[in-house]
Amino acid sequence: ATPVSIMVGTGKGAGMGVLIKNAEALEILEKIDTLVVDKTGTLTEGAPRLVTVKVLEGVDENRMLYAAATLERASEHPLAEAIVKGAAARGLELGKTDHFNSVTGEGVTGEVDGISIAIGNDKLLKSLGIDPLNLSVVSQQYRENGETVMLIALDGKAAGILGVMDPVKEGTSEAIKALHKENIEVVMLTGDNETTAKAVAAKLHIDRVIAEVSPEEKSKVVKRLQEEGRYVAMAGDGVNDAPALAQAHVGIAMGTGTDVAMESAGVTLVKGDLRGIIRAIRLSRITMKNIR
Ligand code: ADP
Ligand code: MG
Repeated sequence: ATPVSIMVGTGKGAGMGVLIKNAEALEILEKIDTLVVDKTGTLTEGAPRLVTVKVLEGVDENRMLYAAATLERASEHPLAEAIVKGAAARGLELGKTDHFNSVTGEGVTGEVDGISIAIGNDKLLKSLGIDPLNLSVVSQQYRENGETVMLIALDGKAAGILGVMDPVKEGTSEAIKALHKENIEVVMLTGDNETTAKAVAAKLHIDRVIAEVSPEEKSKVVKRLQEEGRYVAMAGDGVNDAPALAQAHVGIAMGTGTDVAMESAGVTLVKGDLRGIIRAIRLSRITMKNIR
């Protein structure tokens, strides 16, 4: 490859908000046949809003939300921020947490005012010996609506759910249509619940959904696709996504995401706009054609 053409290519990319780290990334982009995308923060804004609060019989709604928000104040997850803001919007003043613990990909636990509390997915509740079935039943309709639902247990008993809605980014739908035109299969990869993931995927006409994936499993999914003979690009924004970005033939980071993701990626979309992938692929084609 002529370094000059590569430099012109990466320079053009930068002008369009697509930062291409090296010649290798620019060379491989034109060969991509599969795009794996993280859901939260990549397809969606990554700024969820609290929209649903439901309690089981005998549980006080505001008390549950107060305890949940108090606990989540210690977490850095975008879901936690949505809960804290939701509680503030209802005028709730928060207390303090003891024994805070965070389980990556599952949720958080701790003690608020002497009451033990857990917030997270089915897996978290099960690991604490709490049956999540009642709460899962209540959650179903909200998940079908595309909400991310968190289950809450108070004092070791199922108590209620909180649902957040994370709007799809403005350019996402157009980007997916354009990728399909280029015969690139789009695969959604998420730690979120399968029903929620499928609801969001259906709206975007995404071909395939792999949900309830733990952070460590993400890079294994990419590897498996590569072993099938595919050329895989992976787009993500979080710390959790970094190993998968590094594993992919080309890692694509959202400029609005974490530094770790950008360090692991060959391409960074400055504004976090997925349409930049199409631009990058076209740029790769033109550059490689000039070289050949
Ligand atoms: P994603 O792949 O969408 O970024 P994560 O792997 O971070 O998802 O989390 C997977 C699931 O674990 C979430 O959908 C949620 O149910 C639960 N979870 C993780 N962190 C928290 C938290 N701080 N509070 C409540 N639930 C959480
Ligand atoms: Mg994410």
